[in-house]
Amino acid sequence: MNRNLYDLLGLCIAVSFILALKGLASPKSARRGNLIGAAGATAATVLVFFAPQEISQSGTATASGHHHTLLILLAILFGVVVGVPAARKIQMTQMPQLVALFNGVGGGAAALVSIVEYLKLGSAASTPDVVATVFTVIVGCVSFAGSVVTFLKLQEIMTTRPVVFAGGRFLIAGTLIGVLASAAWVIHSMGNTSLLVMGLLSLLFGVLFVLPVGGADVPIVISLLNAFTGLTVAASGYVLQATLLIVAGTLVGASGTILTRLMATAMGRSLFSTLFGAFTAKPQAAAAAGEARPVKSGSPDDVAILLNYAQRVVIVPGFGLAVAQAQHTVREMADLLTSKGIDVAYGIHPVAGRMPGHMNVLLAEANVPYEQLVEMDEINPTFPQTDVVLVVGANDVVNPAARTTPGCPIFGMPILDVSQAGNVIFLKRSMRPGFAGIENELLYDPKTTLLFGDAKDSLTKVVSALKNL
Ligand code: NDP
Repeated sequence: MNRNLYDLLGLCIAVSFILALKGLASPKSARRGNLIGAAGATAATVLVFFAPQEISQSGTATASGHHHTLLILLAILFGVVVGVPAARKIQMTQMPQLVALFNGVGGGAAALVSIVEYLKLGSAASTPDVVATVFTVIVGCVSFAGSVVTFLKLQEIMTTRPVVFAGGRFLIAGTLIGVLASAAWVIHSMGNTSLLVMGLLSLLFGVLFVLPVGGADVPIVISLLNAFTGLTVAASGYVLQATLLIVAGTLVGASGTILTRLMATAMGRSLFSTLFGAFTAKPQAAAAAGEARPVKSGSPDDVAILLNYAQRVVIVPGFGLAVAQAQHTVREMADLLTSKGIDVAYGIHPVAGRMPGHMNVLLAEANVPYEQLVEMDEINPTFPQTDVVLVVGANDVVNPAARTTPGCPIFGMPILDVSQAGNVIFLKRSMRPGFAGIENELLYDPKTTLLFGDAKDSLTKVVSALKNL
């Protein structure tokens, strides 16, 4: 292919990545953004096979495109066979785990590619090449190992709580010093042993760095590791002289950094306290599991009556709505209430569910009108004028402990102020706590009614009771 045409197509693909990010910024355009990004990534993969000769001779990645076509096609086939069914089968609620896994694989792959390049170049490698390789290997290994640990935590294969042990912070600091020292050794000696030591220490650092992060903070770390992977890919693009990799990696690095900051802010904490807070946290009193305290539970008919005579109802969706897949039923109920002249809105907390925008995506799937989705800061002042709040599978995002219990895992996180409303109804299956694992005093409040059961079943019963009123 002609060099100019190749560069022009590369530029179009880079623009498609930027348009994809722009589209992903709003639920309305997210689907389109995703498709544009996927089309750009596919075009980028195909374009490599048509790299002009002068590029394929200087850049080994593109050279591989000409010399190892069968191997590359086999690798793509393997990726498709494993990746497509995994992405299709995964539940929406397990999306963060999947992102963690894909992200880790991306970081690990970038590190491996750089190692291969480094070994190929041998003594011919220039210092900037070696520095870029060192950076790619360190950050890629940290991203890979850290992502595997976050996957194990979110999949509950290991404890989701922070793992801290005596001397842990010194071990982390010592490992980091070891990584930096071995990096200097690689740059100085340009040897293979030093590279191996550096890679192993980086993997260890990735594990140690994520272990102290627990519970609700794990998705923030996934976002941070995603940003790391972006930087790794950008650096490997430098090693491979592949402009597209530099552009795509930088976009992932920048957007991942912004997302990490937004998530940390939404949870009312700094990134530092997210990562290392477990070392300074005071031990928590165990949740009073099983402690017999009176709660007021009600039947679907009781809930229907409360809703039917309200003037304003706010629905607060949470993770349990996603688990129960009750988005269509909740919309049916909201439509019914609206048709009875009741003012209905949804209060959306920025970290409700398990990923940013989770509730927006879920409710958009059920065609809930966007104007009914009201962000936390906007809806909070309206709770005193709200007759009934229906909390559907949410817990932490309405837990007053975030304000009243210093040292608890969600302390400082802004919450939806539902206790200000006339009545609060919780739809949940048991008295189990939410993701952060802490008791919610609001469940025992005299104005609270609990409707126990799967959210979809409960809502279906409430809808039929409402129809009979
Ligand atoms: P929580 O995890 O706090 O609570 C979910 C509630 O849903 C539980 O009380 C559970 O109770 C109930 N539930 C589960 N399944 C069902 C079901 N089938 N039917 C009815 N109820 C059900 O969720 P929130 O959305 O309130 O909070 C999100 C948490 O995730 C926060 O801690 C947040 O910090 C964290 N997080 C979110 C991120 C994001 O970007 N969205 C990122 C980082 C962290 P029971 O088991 O009794 O039914």
